[in-house]
Amino acid sequence: MPTNPLGLLTTTGVPVTILAATLLGYQVLTPCGNEVLLEDGVAFGTTTVVIDPGHGGPVDTGAVASTGVAEKEINLLVAQAVEQLLWEQGISAVVTRSGDYASPLSVRAQLADSLDAEIMVSIHHNSPSPGPSPIPGVEVFIQANSSTSRRLGGLLWKRAMQALDGFDIIWVAADDAGVMTVLNSRGDDAYGIIRHPQTSTALIELGYISNRAEAELQQDPMYVPVAAGAIAQAISEYLQSDGEGSGFVAGRVFNPEPGVGKDVCTDPDLGR
Ligand SMILES: [Zn+2]
Repeated sequence: MPTNPLGLLTTTGVPVTILAATLLGYQVLTPCGNEVLLEDGVAFGTTTVVIDPGHGGPVDTGAVASTGVAEKEINLLVAQAVEQLLWEQGISAVVTRSGDYASPLSVRAQLADSLDAEIMVSIHHNSPSPGPSPIPGVEVFIQANSSTSRRLGGLLWKRAMQALDGFDIIWVAADDAGVMTVLNSRGDDAYGIIRHPQTSTALIELGYISNRAEAELQQDPMYVPVAAGAIAQAISEYLQSDGEGSGFVAGRVFNPEPGVGKDVCTDPDLGR
């Protein structure tokens, strides 16, 4: 057991924040943000990287492709592959969800902050489709006023664009795609997973699941290793170099729908 247990992998494989270690077990914050006591599980300490597979559960599916696949499924496959690649490089990593369940953005952010993570990367696939493009429409959203989030975003964009460009399909892309801040009308970071954490965070939209050609690619077994490899490479470059990456563009102003709340959240089996 680490001297300072910060996170717990439940017996059912769900990573959760430890709120307190007691004689009876661990008081933890569940994926839905409830406080429960768990007797068993594997406690762990500081973790360098947190990977957030966007969406999850029956309500918050993310975008759904015309092929029938949901964004939450592809996001999870890529996130788990990134986690595996980082561990193989000796970089400690944890995912914010390990299966198909919901978790409010504030709870995901608290996991990253509790683990004292250096960075968090949130993985998404975009919709709806803008016009056709000869190059991938990768978008990366970064925290305003954070030079570390900006550097992480630049490296993610550069490596994802290079990797995906190897696939010969008709992409779609927004005219202003790149690495950017997105602020709401109040002037705050618009997306909750960017706004909530103290941890330096970037959100990557790897492509458009709403574009049938891209959805078919994303479901091809070739895709996940390439997408995950690019993200893992960007993360290791962030940690081991001063690289700045590329793709920086002017920011947007946008007011997104709020994320899934506790009211529509059902916790997964935590092995109690
Ligand atoms: Zn998404």
